[in-house]
Amino acid sequence: MLSYWEKQSFLQYDHIIIGSGIVGLSTALSLRERQPNASILVMERGILPTGASTKNAGFACIGSLTEVLEDLKIMSESEVLSLVEYRMKGLEKLRHRLGDNNIGYAENGSYELISEHELIALDQFYTINDMLRPLLKKNAYSRADHMISEFGFNKGLVKHVLQNNAEGELDTGKMMKALIKLCVESDIEIKTGADVIRVLEEGNEVKVFIDHKHLAQHITFSCRQLAICTNAFTNHLIPGLDIQPGRGQVLITQPIPGLKIKGIFHFDKGFYYFREVDGRILFGGGRNLDFTGERSETLSYNELILADLLEKLDTMILPDTHYEIDYAWTGIMAFGNDKFPIVAAHSRNIFLGVRMGGMGVAMGSEVGDRLAELMTSE
Ligand SMILES: Cc1cc2nc3c(=O)[nH]c(=O)nc-3n(C[C@H](O)[C@H](O)[C@H](O)COP(=O)(O)OP(=O)(O)OC[C@H]3O[C@@H](n4cnc5c(N)ncnc54)[C@H](O)[C@@H]3O)c2cc1C
Repeated sequence: MLSYWEKQSFLQYDHIIIGSGIVGLSTALSLRERQPNASILVMERGILPTGASTKNAGFACIGSLTEVLEDLKIMSESEVLSLVEYRMKGLEKLRHRLGDNNIGYAENGSYELISEHELIALDQFYTINDMLRPLLKKNAYSRADHMISEFGFNKGLVKHVLQNNAEGELDTGKMMKALIKLCVESDIEIKTGADVIRVLEEGNEVKVFIDHKHLAQHITFSCRQLAICTNAFTNHLIPGLDIQPGRGQVLITQPIPGLKIKGIFHFDKGFYYFREVDGRILFGGGRNLDFTGERSETLSYNELILADLLEKLDTMILPDTHYEIDYAWTGIMAFGNDKFPIVAAHSRNIFLGVRMGGMGVAMGSEVGDRLAELMTSE
């Protein structure tokens, strides 16, 4: 049971946001920028964010050549351009809001490895550069084949290297800590261990129900407006949306003495990615090997994909280098038939900012801003 004091002081807010990933926290900050006096609460089911935002690879990316070409098969040119613009604007906002030092932002080079199966993509190299130039104000991609021997990749498997001139890398842990710090400084409350089990709109109010294991009842919070930023897990609260979970597997090596590789790397239409971090290689991806198995919300491993990552690390990325794997982890992303995020009013007082695909680090701040704009533009 709740006390009089708890009922008076702890349960009512102007805005509640469910989910403390990059989108939830960015939405809270964008709401604060627009409404300096509003009471704002972020609710997170985990002690740490438990989806994708603290599990990702930290690529500040706009898309590789083969990924853009793949997108052009299912989207118009203007849609592809607005998706790239979405990522660019998101990254600009993130860097401006938090500062490059605070998120470990660096431009150590971004590259795509081209295998013999993708040589045809190189025919489109100039066309895609022309298409993206008005947005980027420079060539997105340039040839960097000399990197194959510089980084020691297997020449039999890596036929060409493209440099992406519009991408960087960041430290995911620092970025999320900086977001949390700014929220706290901005008088935004964050409650962890707050697993929302149901939401209900009643008149001008939204009720948010939390299961509390130490009380014999649910706790009901209420707000004027609710933002749902739960990405892959949204269908538990609002069923029927075009959102599928997509798990991502990642492994990291022990520090490798004399490691030559520096920067961030993609291959196979962005399905695989690796980077140098603290003298180690972080390597993830391979969801395309088992789309069905990876349509999962469970943070467990896929042995088939881990074996594939190990094989590619051994033969393609570090063929002549001694290294040891330190450990692996997984995170959960959200996908749909459309590659654009859902930023929409679900009802009069319930709003959605979800379905970031594999690009939420890049897009998250822009999504939060567009969502806050929608919520405050009555
Ligand atoms: C392995 C991996 C690598 C990636 N690499 C990159 C990359 O390099 N670059 C890039 O741009 N993107 C990358 N991504 C994608 C990016 O991390 C995501 O798109 C982004 O983090 C999504 O942010 P979000 O806030 O929408 O969702 P999340 O971070 O998943 O946040 C949603 C939050 O909601 C909480 N929640 C869910 N349900 C409830 C509930 N009922 N009650 C309370 N809380 C709830 C969850 O615990 C979670 O913390 C990667 C993702 C993964 C998994």
